[in-house]
Amino acid sequence: MDLKTEVLVIGGGATGAGIARDLSLRGIPALLIEKGDLLSGASGRNHGLLHSGARYVVSDPEAARECIAENRILRKIAPHCLEETDGLFVSLPEDGLDFRDRFIQACQETTIPAKLLSREETLGLEPDLNPALLSAVKVPDGAIDPFELVLANAKDAEVHGATFLLHTEVTSFLVNGNKVTAAFAKDLLHGEEYRIEASYFINATGAWADNLLKKVGLCLPMALSKGSMLITNQRLSHRVINRCRPPSNGDIIVPNHTVSILGTTSVRLEDVECFEVMPHEVSLLIDETSKMLPNIREARLIRAYAGIRPLFQSEEKDDDRAISRGFVLIDHEMRDGLNNLITITGGKLVTYRLMAEKTVDLICKKLNIDLSCSTHLKPLTKRDHPCSLKDRLKTLGSMETLCDCELVGIEEVIEVLKEGKLKSFQDILRRTRLTKGTCQGAFCVHRLLGLLHDLGMVKEDSNHILKGFLEERWKGIRPILWGSALKEEELIEGIYKGIFNLKKSKEFGVGSSE
Ligand SMILES: Cc1cc2nc3c(=O)[nH]c(=O)nc-3n(C[C@H](O)[C@H](O)[C@H](O)COP(=O)(O)OP(=O)(O)OC[C@H]3O[C@@H](n4cnc5c(N)ncnc54)[C@H](O)[C@@H]3O)c2cc1C
Repeated sequence: MDLKTEVLVIGGGATGAGIARDLSLRGIPALLIEKGDLLSGASGRNHGLLHSGARYVVSDPEAARECIAENRILRKIAPHCLEETDGLFVSLPEDGLDFRDRFIQACQETTIPAKLLSREETLGLEPDLNPALLSAVKVPDGAIDPFELVLANAKDAEVHGATFLLHTEVTSFLVNGNKVTAAFAKDLLHGEEYRIEASYFINATGAWADNLLKKVGLCLPMALSKGSMLITNQRLSHRVINRCRPPSNGDIIVPNHTVSILGTTSVRLEDVECFEVMPHEVSLLIDETSKMLPNIREARLIRAYAGIRPLFQSEEKDDDRAISRGFVLIDHEMRDGLNNLITITGGKLVTYRLMAEKTVDLICKKLNIDLSCSTHLKPLTKRDHPCSLKDRLKTLGSMETLCDCELVGIEEVIEVLKEGKLKSFQDILRRTRLTKGTCQGAFCVHRLLGLLHDLGMVKEDSNHILKGFLEERWKGIRPILWGSALKEEELIEGIYKGIFNLKKSKEFGVGSSE
């Protein structure tokens, strides 16, 4: 099929969705193409920390400035995607106080509000912290729900005219002289092929940026840094807990909806498609985070997962943590003589909007038009269903639930199904809180299948869908299988094998309702 647009955005993470929204708000036609579902890259596999910038304030003040500025904007335009928890940078006896003093000074220079708390004040706020702590510094960190954020950007982009092509990979480009004239793409689920003409092409593929550029004979020095994280079965603190020392392994605990997320590690990879959480990373994360919150050792882990940071390497560095978390915007006209290709990569989830603004500013400059950005002013629309844990708790008892851990109602799921963009079972899970809570889908996925049957969206035997889900779930469960997590898994295996009599799977997918 032949398609034509003004700007083709490649990559459906926060950056790509943010660019699509910005372009469409400025009235510039855009098509976004994503090889998986929205959020299948780092945007759906991160720590969910609304950075205040404090983490980078000593080592990378420029990135810290970007974070605090965007933190303030996100609180205004996307309050339903955030939880304003605040964050504590905790000093333990082995950390000393030298770094803490430099940290407070740097926060002042970067305008990040920072308040020093005594040991007693800190324990008053978070009684489960290590009682040996020396002090803590309170900063405006928070929790962010990347799923709500990216889906809200995509929805608003569509409302303003952008179109999305999901599960479709850009496989090659047609280059004519100093211009890219078309991109070729393939629907990875149904095999349909596309030829897409555009005036401008934006590479917003995050950690895949170099892979994509190779298709036009260019390259980009990227460091692929895997970060692994663990999820506990309940919230372990009210606030984000950081270790007050230079960024290292296992020094952040983020409360997120009903759970806490412990992270991260930093391991250099060669292949962006091939990674998993290793058992030694699980041990390292528990050892390090339990120094701040000792009761982590008793907590039940419910899942491990990892993502790849898209780090742009301006010079070779031994330690990936020393590479800037700032973003790079590359005009390939200036760098490589290709007039209509732009790459945007690096940065943070928190800075996605700024990255989009700068990219679209560059497009406007190239188009010689004067259209200003409004994404810092226009709030993102909240979906009809309750987003935050607080709002979900208010609905308790007043709705029929599919997921008891995360209080997801049947109505909410039906609304998502009605939107009709879903091509696979996992797409439904990405658009709701189903399977993200304590039981990790053990007690809600078969209810969801029942609903799909009732709506006529799944016909015949659906055990292959159940099996596909369990195989995906297993990837996150396997690295944490010991202690109480192992017991829970044996129970779930018994339930699923006993009740559903699972057999070998076929390819799974969700059909549309008649
Ligand atoms: C472990 C970890 C923890 C993090 N924690 C935080 C945090 O707490 N707070 C924070 O602010 N930031 C955090 N980040 C950083 C943040 O997640 C990323 O900076 C951000 O999500 C990058 O978004 P993106 O859209 O640029 O890339 P991505 O989300 O990776 O999107 C790129 C997309 O491009 C698609 N794609 C690739 N090739 C093609 C192709 N040929 N055709 C079509 N599509 C293609 C991919 O499928 C992918 O979906 C973390 C990152 C990691 C890895």
